[in-house]
Amino acid sequence: MKRGIFMMAGRPPCRPLGIAAILMLAFFMGEGCRRSAPQEERFAVMGTFASVMAGSDECDRTAEYAQICAGKMREIEAQLSLYRKDSELSRLNARAGMGPVRVGAHLRANLVLALRFGELSGGAFDVTVGPLVKMWGFSGGTSPTAWVSTERIEATRRRVGYRRIRLQGDEVSLEGTNMVVDLGGIAKGYAVDVCCDELRRRGARNFVVNLGGNMRCFGRPEASRSWQIGVQNPFQPHEVIGRLDLGDGMAVATSGNYERFVMIGDRRCAHIIDPRTGLPVEGMAGVTVLAATAAEADALSTSLFVLGMEEGGKVAAAITNGAAVFVPDRQPMEVWITPSMTNVFQAGSGVVPRVISNR
Ligand code: AMP
Ligand code: MG
Repeated sequence: MKRGIFMMAGRPPCRPLGIAAILMLAFFMGEGCRRSAPQEERFAVMGTFASVMAGSDECDRTAEYAQICAGKMREIEAQLSLYRKDSELSRLNARAGMGPVRVGAHLRANLVLALRFGELSGGAFDVTVGPLVKMWGFSGGTSPTAWVSTERIEATRRRVGYRRIRLQGDEVSLEGTNMVVDLGGIAKGYAVDVCCDELRRRGARNFVVNLGGNMRCFGRPEASRSWQIGVQNPFQPHEVIGRLDLGDGMAVATSGNYERFVMIGDRRCAHIIDPRTGLPVEGMAGVTVLAATAAEADALSTSLFVLGMEEGGKVAAAITNGAAVFVPDRQPMEVWITPSMTNVFQAGSGVVPRVISNR
């Protein structure tokens, strides 16, 4: 690993369909640790890779930070995984239409946030999209060999609707039978926040936690500079289109169509489904967002991928510290940014970002 450069690449160990799960932006820049201790630790969890990086003053604690994060992430995975039959989420899904289920704090917090983004996005973000996601061959579903019929799409769409999630205290009911909650668009960001809170509780001050492209940073890599993140070019994954300068506590997430997709005939279907139409989202190659927490960034990037630039720009503006970079799925490449991104995004050479109007 080159000094000062943090790079995520490669395939996760346990994704179905051989689909790469790392929906990654790119790399960190800035000098990390100047001592001999490792500056970055990586590990596999939640079907992807996680990494932790510590600033130069505390880089000798990198391994300890990583161990703390791995423990927390595995605990959250055990509760929120759709792939594990014994997870709390699977138990909730198994009781869809059968009355309330008592849930723990992690699942509840994810659902509270998911409902908020359901409202904010006008239903573009919907964690009950599970049956559609599976129908198109993701989250454990089998990839269809031909385009799915309108009748089947409509029938599956009727099983979707976040408003039929009822939260009362620590009890949750899924009011429709056959509903499936899929937290794939939010849980990784949530896990990053939990890890950051735990690290800070234990005295960590300068670090970055990354889980499959959901990142949050605190402090600085060294006194003279802030954490910077390269935004990946969705069409040329080894290139960046620009950099983001991250302030203390800021979070970044990316949603894209270039890592996880299935081919049906010659059509490339992204793993993000528009719950309003039941179809895989087309039109956007990548969306990178900033938010005040990693859970919000995660939910926001998925929401904006569905909504596109105009509607998505308004949702980003409604979130504290929300900002976005959009790359539409067309050539020649265009880069669009929300007004609040202007001071944060430093375009790479040859990239001229256009600002999305707020009106
Ligand atoms: P992300 O990579 O964070 O954008 O999340 C994508 C994942 O979120 C998918 O693999 C699904 O598990 C889930 N998902 C797909 N479509 C939606 C949607 N419209 N709203 C919420 N979650 C979704
Ligand atoms: Mg997301």
